[in-house]
Amino acid sequence: MDYKKLANLLFPMELKTPEYYEDLYKQRVLKEGAIVTRFAPSPTGFLHFGGLYTSFFANRIAKQSEGKYILRIEDTDQKREVANGVRDIITGLFAFGIVFDETPGNVEYVDAKYGPYKQSERKDIYMTFAKKLVQEGKAYPCFCSSEQLSADRKAQEKAKTLLGYYGHYARCKNLSYEDIETKVNNGEKFAIRLKVDSSPNNKIIVNDAIRGELRLSDNYNDVVILKSDFLPPYNFAHACDDHLMRVNLVVRGDEYLPSIAEHLQIFEALNFEPIKYAHVAPIQKIDENGNKRKISKRKDPEAAVSFYNEQGYPAESVQEYILTVANSNFEAWRKNNEFLPVEKFIVSFDKMSISGALFDFAKLADVSKTVISKMSAKEVYDRLVNWTSNYDKELDMLLRKYKDYSIQILNIEREQKKPRKDIEKWSDIKVLNSYFYDELFNPTKKEDYEFNYDNFNLADVQNIMESYLKSYSEQDDKQTWFNKIKVLSSSVGYSDDMKAYKATPEGFKGHYGDVAGIIRVVLTSRTQTPDLYEISRLLGKERMEKRVELAVKVLK
Ligand code: GLU
Ligand code: ZN
Repeated sequence: MDYKKLANLLFPMELKTPEYYEDLYKQRVLKEGAIVTRFAPSPTGFLHFGGLYTSFFANRIAKQSEGKYILRIEDTDQKREVANGVRDIITGLFAFGIVFDETPGNVEYVDAKYGPYKQSERKDIYMTFAKKLVQEGKAYPCFCSSEQLSADRKAQEKAKTLLGYYGHYARCKNLSYEDIETKVNNGEKFAIRLKVDSSPNNKIIVNDAIRGELRLSDNYNDVVILKSDFLPPYNFAHACDDHLMRVNLVVRGDEYLPSIAEHLQIFEALNFEPIKYAHVAPIQKIDENGNKRKISKRKDPEAAVSFYNEQGYPAESVQEYILTVANSNFEAWRKNNEFLPVEKFIVSFDKMSISGALFDFAKLADVSKTVISKMSAKEVYDRLVNWTSNYDKELDMLLRKYKDYSIQILNIEREQKKPRKDIEKWSDIKVLNSYFYDELFNPTKKEDYEFNYDNFNLADVQNIMESYLKSYSEQDDKQTWFNKIKVLSSSVGYSDDMKAYKATPEGFKGHYGDVAGIIRVVLTSRTQTPDLYEISRLLGKERMEKRVELAVKVLK
């Protein structure tokens, strides 16, 4: 067969040559060992936590080796394109410190030397290289209808034989030039398939950067490399794009493991140097039935990156958390480098889990509380306001109205050696601090006191609060304030000494801790709060008096 003639029949349109593209996209001049890798999502705009996880890691691998990190949009499946999808991906990842060196569109920091970065704009490239394969007798047109193909598939399933387009199922593999010409002239649609000559009995060895040496069955299937619309499926676009963008490492999800053989065959047919892979295991969770499964967009809110923004997790917490699950040596590094930014940590593939990291909310909470505890009150305030302006109008208004007061609140047990770790995410703050704002304060109900205090009675509460306010002075330091609580305790029949109380509990109504507890509940309607001394100072005498009035009203 005259393959050159065949190629011209199938691709009569004017196309560049493969050499043209090889020359256009120069080899990158980078430091030895520099990793060039990419994130290659479809433009749905939906950012999956698994995507962030992989992308965060790939970005670090590229940057720490002084390589490049590229965003390539895989939109050959046109149905899925949504408005602003690309922008949402870029800004969504940017929020977590992921900065692309090359992206589609007129976005800042674009270096378009290897573009276009949208597959739908690279159609000519794919056609050029598919034509080359036809010209070399390595690919051929397939005219089979989808009905024909699914009938074959059914027959294969029934006969329990290998599925696919091979052997006598590869009907179009040996069509004559004349047959093909007639069909083309009749306007019959065709796809292009790779001519494969192998069997699953042949094994190939691949060295994966995360999984190490893999022994895989070779591909036997004459896979489609161009669909009838002349856009490629994933496999062929992957080979052309990663080769011409001068990518040297593909970091992608491990759902592609079974396709490695097919992908390498395409690289080989094209005479491209085989590419290196790092297949990342997905993040999993233990479901209600105790089984491990991937976190899913449909079932798990935490699968969406937007969830972390909505809840108000600082980006650093998420980064920190990703590294904790991704690299087993991160936590030890963090212990020794408490204040270094995550960028200083060297990520590595060999510390990555092969079976799939487990999503762990408790761990995220823990990590995030520590991250936030290290921030100054002013920083927490600024970032909180940044969050409330999008997600909580009511609190936003109060934070702006009472700015200095709010910063003082946020400073309680902060900016010290062992700061309080009670804030996991910005959305916690309203719940934690609502009692500081009269607009949000709800007095405690009577049952709450009865539930918490065995010897509760209204007269005591009134008594305690009256004495507390009478003796309260803004000038008191903490020790003086504390001593006053003790004095007041014994004046109302509560012990001012823990040892004495423990020796004869029946001799007292309770101890000074209970008294402080009652003061706390009246002032804050909480049984647990940060330092009561600080709270009293922030509320001030006048507002404390109002709260006592409110409490008495509720209790009567
Ligand atoms: N578009 C593919 C995906 O989203 C890209 C995989 C890859 O990174 O090569 O799964
Ligand atoms: Zn066919």
